[in-house]
Amino acid sequence: MAHASNLSRRRLLHAGLAVAALPLAGCAGLGGGPSIGRVVVVGGGYGGATAARYLRLWGGNVDVTLVERYASFVSCPISNLVLGGHKQMSDITVSYAGLEAIGVKRVQAEVVAIDVQAREVRLTDGRKLPYDRVIVSPGVDFMLDQVAGLAAPAAQEKILHGWKAGPQTAALRRQLEAMPDGGVYALTIPKAPYRCPPGPYERACMVASYFKQYKPRSKVLVLDANPEITSKKGLFEKAFADHYKGIVEYRANNELKSVDAATNTAKLEFDDVRADVLNVVPPQRAGDIARTTGLLNMNNRWAGVNWLTMESTAVPGVHVLGDATFSAPAMPKSGHMANQHAKVAAAAIIQVLKGAPVNAAPVVMNTCYSFVTALDVVHVASVHQYDAAEKTFKPVPGSGGVSTAANQVEGRYALSWAQNIWADMLAT
Ligand SMILES: Cc1cc2nc3c(=O)[nH]c(=O)nc-3n(C[C@H](O)[C@H](O)[C@H](O)COP(=O)(O)OP(=O)(O)OC[C@H]3O[C@@H](n4cnc5c(N)ncnc54)[C@H](O)[C@@H]3O)c2cc1C
Repeated sequence: MAHASNLSRRRLLHAGLAVAALPLAGCAGLGGGPSIGRVVVVGGGYGGATAARYLRLWGGNVDVTLVERYASFVSCPISNLVLGGHKQMSDITVSYAGLEAIGVKRVQAEVVAIDVQAREVRLTDGRKLPYDRVIVSPGVDFMLDQVAGLAAPAAQEKILHGWKAGPQTAALRRQLEAMPDGGVYALTIPKAPYRCPPGPYERACMVASYFKQYKPRSKVLVLDANPEITSKKGLFEKAFADHYKGIVEYRANNELKSVDAATNTAKLEFDDVRADVLNVVPPQRAGDIARTTGLLNMNNRWAGVNWLTMESTAVPGVHVLGDATFSAPAMPKSGHMANQHAKVAAAAIIQVLKGAPVNAAPVVMNTCYSFVTALDVVHVASVHQYDAAEKTFKPVPGSGGVSTAANQVEGRYALSWAQNIWADMLAT
């Protein structure tokens, strides 16, 4: 109950702010007066949307433009429930109207380049958006060259990842629905680091929950490139044994080497696996725009940042959030963490624009819920404090942990978490 009343209080607060902001939306900003600077945000996901909102809330009069290729936000968290048939695409889709109501200028377009000398963001249609600071939160793109055969158009059409929520989520659900009872669904997991460490194991549970009810002779085969389950290990092992015995088979140290789209076959080091539905989560790196902007100074894969400001350590004036960053020790690539990065960046950018010092001791936290059945959930949580000597965030000893057992109370918390974070980032 405490949860529910907090939620409604926050909603009211958000609604109040949105209404108060409306008359000012076309003027200088929430706080009135001249703009203190122009910030362009690239990517309207967990990091970018949160940054856009908090720049408006905290900055008063920052001129904020959010560029996102899609018309609406579609959430990866909860998308595994769509695959399990427990939620619909409409349940994980949220409009950007709340951000526009607080004065964020939204542009639906593809960013093709960021000219860091001219300080402008370039769009597909040739438009140029000048900025004082730019925030890049593009999420991940896939290293298709790491899996032979996967980049071919025929493979791309048939072998889905479902690792960016949207059309692929719906298409993967359709493949599962079309699969005959007695079929095999194979899910391949890349070596860490990848987006959402517990996500693949939650997916295995959700697909298995669907098979258990509707296609009980079917199998979920988890082919993991890692030596063991990378997050909430004991809890997932227990879920596989308690709920999905005879349905889920987990194989560690099974790295995908190539695919044959014609036969829907995953080729591993010692084995070939033919599946009715082959779901490949490919190895990942920061989104393309981070690469073409020259931000990937960590293994040519991730963007290094100054954790006090989230400013790139490769290119001044560019701030990077979320999955695209080279993670601090024990920091997950999660939506919750991208939301926290965004708040550090928004606060720091406002200070920089005002010529004031930034917070020297930020603290961020993460909670990640995973559904193991349609109702039962397990969590992992952590708190990360900035360490001035090592210039990075470090986990606070004893601060986090995991559930003792899967339970339905956390099932309700997980759904509340999703509603809350969508309200927090999108001002709904
Ligand atoms: C199945 C699954 C389950 C998950 N469950 C959870 C969970 O329970 N809890 C949790 O905290 N996290 C979860 N995650 C992880 C979470 O989704 C990511 O960590 C989070 O989305 C990262 O935020 P981001 O801002 O870095 O990227 P995103 O949220 O992916 O946002 C990036 C945005 O940038 C846009 N974009 C990229 N390039 C361009 C361009 N050039 N021009 C215009 N727009 C562009 C994209 O369209 C996208 O909207 C899950 C992920 C998956 C796949």
